[in-house]
Amino acid sequence: MTTRSRRDQLQDNLNRTREAIAAACSDAGRAPDSVRLIAVTKTFPAADAAHLVSLGQTDLGENRDQEAAPKAAALAAAGLEPVWHFVGQLQRNKAKSVAGYADWVHSVDRAPLANALSNAAIAHGRSLNALIQVSLDGDTARGGVPVADLEPLAEAIAAAPALVLKGVMAVAPLGWEPARAFALLNDCSEAVRRTDPGATEVSAGMSGDYREAILAGATMVRLGRNVLGERESMA
Ligand SMILES: *Cc1c(COP(=O)(O)O)cnc(C)c1O
Repeated sequence: MTTRSRRDQLQDNLNRTREAIAAACSDAGRAPDSVRLIAVTKTFPAADAAHLVSLGQTDLGENRDQEAAPKAAALAAAGLEPVWHFVGQLQRNKAKSVAGYADWVHSVDRAPLANALSNAAIAHGRSLNALIQVSLDGDTARGGVPVADLEPLAEAIAAAPALVLKGVMAVAPLGWEPARAFALLNDCSEAVRRTDPGATEVSAGMSGDYREAILAGATMVRLGRNVLGERESMA
């Protein structure tokens, strides 16, 4: 397949995805620009990420530092500066690397990680937008803070000098109705806004459930397969 045809394919996918987001916004009585599309490029090559940026898709997401760091470096070397969103589970020892390229971290789920990210951002001379990942079903093995522990974490992030608390993020638990998951996430968003009224972002919705997320009030959707196609393996 030529480079040109892959670009065309991505353009078609992007157009279709943006139209579907606009339709969901319309059904929800919301403005189409009230939802930010994050194209999750994990498992896809830097060339695809570069095509997306050249097509005007500036928000890109990744879930593993080992893959994201070289991809971000490759795009930067080509003069492309997307807004990188780190959306995966994160170990403290990766904070230094992630803070070097990410603009947003959607998966802040414990105070020691928040502090490590803040210190790393300071070392890089920048600040990071932070979302609290919530574990809606309390199964923290897949990342996220239990709902009951949300407010102390919000306070810790709000107090971290180089983090800007922006809101909440979740993945709908397996076996849950998406609408139930995203309604609970909205309650979490309200709780966080009691700590910081500016933390209005709600990152929710993947390729299988973004419509429900938008109907429930999501301000960011994280879409991989819809934009890039099926992945070879689960990531
Ligand atoms: C992979 C991933 C996505 C995108 O998933 P798709 O089903 O490909 O849309 C969104 N959020 C997180 C945290 C992910 O790891």
